[in-house]
Amino acid sequence: MHTLSLTELAAAVKGRLFVSPTVTQSIISKAVTDSRTYFKGSNPVFFALIGPSNNGHRYILQLQEKGMQVFVVSDKSAINKKGTFILVDNTKTALQNLAAFTRNRFKYPVIGITGSNGKTIIKEWLHDILSSEYKIVRSPKSYNSQVGVPLSVLLMNDEFDLGIFEAGISEPGEMKNLEEIISPNIGVLTNIGDAHQENFVSTEQKLNEKLQLFKNCKSLVFRTDNDLINRQANEFCKKHKIEKINWTLENRETAIRFSAERNTDNTQITAFYKDKTFKFTIPFTDDSAIENACHCFAYLLALPENPEKYISKFAQLQPIAMRLEIKQGINNCLLINDYYNSDLNSLTIALSVLQQQAAKEHLHKQVILSDIQQTGLDKEFLYKKVDELFRQWGIDRVIGIGPDISAHKNAFTIDAEFYHSRADFEERFLRNKFNSSVILIKGARQFEFEKISGLLQQKAHQTVLEINLNALINNLTVFKNLLKPETKIMVMVKAFSYGSGDVEIARLLQYQNVDYLAVAVADEGVQLRNAGITVPIIVMNPEQNSFQNIIDYHLQPNIYSLELLVNFTKAVSVNGLQNFPVHLKIDTGMNRLGLKTKHEISEIINSLKASNRLTIQSVFSHLAGSDDPELDEFTHHQFEQFEKCFEFISKSFPYKIDRHILNSAGIERFPEKQYNMVRLGIGLYGISQTDLPLENIGTLKSTISQVKSVKTNETVGYNRKGKVNGRSKIAVVPIGYADGLDRKLSNRNGQAFVNGNRVPIIGNICMDMLMLDVSGTNAKPGDTVEFFGPNISITELAEKVGTIPYEILTGISQRVKRIYVQE
Ligand SMILES: *Cc1c(COP(=O)(O)O)cnc(C)c1O
Repeated sequence: MHTLSLTELAAAVKGRLFVSPTVTQSIISKAVTDSRTYFKGSNPVFFALIGPSNNGHRYILQLQEKGMQVFVVSDKSAINKKGTFILVDNTKTALQNLAAFTRNRFKYPVIGITGSNGKTIIKEWLHDILSSEYKIVRSPKSYNSQVGVPLSVLLMNDEFDLGIFEAGISEPGEMKNLEEIISPNIGVLTNIGDAHQENFVSTEQKLNEKLQLFKNCKSLVFRTDNDLINRQANEFCKKHKIEKINWTLENRETAIRFSAERNTDNTQITAFYKDKTFKFTIPFTDDSAIENACHCFAYLLALPENPEKYISKFAQLQPIAMRLEIKQGINNCLLINDYYNSDLNSLTIALSVLQQQAAKEHLHKQVILSDIQQTGLDKEFLYKKVDELFRQWGIDRVIGIGPDISAHKNAFTIDAEFYHSRADFEERFLRNKFNSSVILIKGARQFEFEKISGLLQQKAHQTVLEINLNALINNLTVFKNLLKPETKIMVMVKAFSYGSGDVEIARLLQYQNVDYLAVAVADEGVQLRNAGITVPIIVMNPEQNSFQNIIDYHLQPNIYSLELLVNFTKAVSVNGLQNFPVHLKIDTGMNRLGLKTKHEISEIINSLKASNRLTIQSVFSHLAGSDDPELDEFTHHQFEQFEKCFEFISKSFPYKIDRHILNSAGIERFPEKQYNMVRLGIGLYGISQTDLPLENIGTLKSTISQVKSVKTNETVGYNRKGKVNGRSKIAVVPIGYADGLDRKLSNRNGQAFVNGNRVPIIGNICMDMLMLDVSGTNAKPGDTVEFFGPNISITELAEKVGTIPYEILTGISQRVKRIYVQE
């Protein structure tokens, strides 16, 4: 973004300016929408966006304490004397207005990309193809929404000479805004599919909406092989006087005709344009890669220069890795792997993931970074910028690898060391220099940083449980949307977060501002505290011998009996403490832990009032059958009991006490009983009782070790239980019941998913291995095998072995490494 004065900003966002006399900041050069990514020193303005599950106005006071001075708000009551405020009707619209204003200041060409699939790949590929000739600003990752597009366009400044932005919509009317912000000169329409169809009456309507992005374009790239696109895009171009750069792979009447010849691992593409032919190769053979590459080449034909000079770039195109991978490293390190590219924007995104996992300064933060290529920026300037970013994010040490970054080592003011090549680093690698750190490993493709990750990674068994952190955030949002904004959320992270790992999940939840975490026993809480988790943690089963740990680590016990209360009060008094926070558990019919009779509750109240050692934070109870409609009458009886008890307790104390009874299924089925807190468990991990749009978070997978052929009379595995149906192909996979795969899945009861096929488990599952009948498939050693995940649901597996998803999730043994992925 270029710099603006406060008055210019107020005019650009069409707002009213309230200047505070104490505010020293008079210019703006960065828009911030996520309160967690704020830094001093960049002349920021905070836009208090209101989303479905979050409200930026809530973070203003906190940001002011950290030094933020300028805010764009829509809620007048958020305005205070300590800051400069700009009041607008709608903060999202204000951000969009600022982006449109910024866009208009720049005269260089902008490419706008929309369509159902391939937007991000085409954007990244065009960048890779053109970056030797142009200085390109582009959308980070897949920032293509109503907020993502303005944030992308705000990255424009005088240093660039080409912009490439993608736009995505999910309902009618949205493209108009995005068109005004991106205001593209050249358009690319990728294709049209079924994604985000629910809000449109027809595919025609959706396509028409997407075309609105191009209404002021000079030219439009599109493929004519789909009849609907052919008809609507041609009409649209005619109506708006847009030059058509249309193309075909099927001999239609178009400006450009392509033909593709597939080989085993690449495709030769020939382009016929006017009286010329061009030949280029891409290292892919699938239909979508061919389509994406043709779009890119068609765009080149719209340029004044000869496309010949870009042809060699096509052979070097890479798949786009959209996800970061988080893995356990050696010596209590955590690795964040991002090997695809290394430009400044993706570096910023990766740093925010690093920050999230480092949990408040607790772990050291290190970055292993390759040369940053193809930015077009002056190198000295570039590496100074990188150093500035590292300072802002509090990075403790950087390891620069590559000739460029080494040549600019003087640009770095933070602790740094440099190596000319990866090999150089590997030769001098010392394991003990990496301790208790989160390490971001970020390098351009050609540096092959996966080898560095290999050195730092804990050597693991090939069977892994992959946890998708984006899905976890999605699921949290889905539940937040069922709740009032002010309802507190306690997330159950007991039993290693339902088997999904432990500290990594807790760190993410802390970053997402949940109010409480809950563990089953004190040791789990101690582990979280040692990992830097600072949010309040409740211990469900506080055992006598863990009291000192509970006190030392600021955990909060659940008090379920008078005896426990008396003993815990003693422990608190021995430590000379007062007002130690505790929670009271009422038994309303579950007949598990909890205070049941009026007499017990009275005694508890009297005992609590007799000293000021303890303070009640909340009173809660647990439902026995919230997921079962047949038990609804009983559930309502539990609510009644709970309300009576709460009333009785709360009126005995002068302070405010929280109350909560709903678990996940309860939130789904009885949201009216959310009171002021809920306890989210299995729902976060992807299991819904009512078809909520939750995403699967865990994928249990392994790889095939060996494939063999078995004749009709032979058998497979122990006790010769695996009978084959004729000559068969058998795959051996290193996962067994010791990994948590139930032995009841033996003998074709359970299935696995390999290369697009479901195949049965044959014979008895062994302790560390099992065999699959892969007859008729192309399965081979090294192929990935899924046991549950996107293709086989945890619920299906649970039904097959006669249990519940909870047991499947928590039963995956600790020797199965957890790998985390995040976009
Ligand atoms: C585990 C647990 C929950 C969460 O239950 P889900 O069904 O997983 O949502 C809530 N409250 C208590 C007391 C629990 O033990």
